[in-house]
Amino acid sequence: MTAHDFLQLQAVDTALDAITNRRLRLPELLAHEGDKAGLEAIEAAMAAAQARIDAAQLAIEAAEHANHELTTKRTRLEAQLKTVIATREAEALISQIATINGQRGELDDRELAALDEQAAGESELAALQAKVPALRAACDLTGAALADALAALEVEVAGLRAEREGLVATMSAADLATYAHARKQFHGVGVAHLEGSHCSGCHMDLSPAELDQVKAPPAGALSECPQCGRILVR
Ligand SMILES: [Zn+2]
Repeated sequence: MTAHDFLQLQAVDTALDAITNRRLRLPELLAHEGDKAGLEAIEAAMAAAQARIDAAQLAIEAAEHANHELTTKRTRLEAQLKTVIATREAEALISQIATINGQRGELDDRELAALDEQAAGESELAALQAKVPALRAACDLTGAALADALAALEVEVAGLRAEREGLVATMSAADLATYAHARKQFHGVGVAHLEGSHCSGCHMDLSPAELDQVKAPPAGALSECPQCGRILVR
């Protein structure tokens, strides 16, 4: 293996790291996430509208039930009224019947309000439902575009991994350990090259004495940048 293998391996690993970052920032991903969030918001609004309809339905049923009970009570009082002779008793019954009629009127108003509320909830729900097919279609489209973009990245990754395997096969375990250590120490980029007297890793210019030190090992052997400690390929 040569020092250039280190640079090549570094380039492959940098490209793989870049793909990892690109995967998280794909415009297709942002578009799809946006569509999904839009659909979820509509679904939440639909659930709220359905809850509004259900609450109104319960209020309607409660009013109808109470109304039915009042009607039964009134029928009984009206029957009693036909049998009483005493005026005071008759007046009491008439007053009770009037109270029931008043209560029934209130219940009817409540039921009408609940019916209005239910109709409003239903039209709200229908308006939301009408938006769903277009949103779902958009979500499917951006989902497919995202899948394509991810598949294209996977093709790149597979190519880079194959290249990496080829490079690694030519390197000794000790060299690989040196490489792995430098990569970890320098947050992914542990190999730099010498451009004139300049280290591409730390961007420092090396002194003539430092340059001599770097160039001392035979060509192809490993050197280290005296400034930053990266593997330096010359
Ligand atoms: Zn350096």
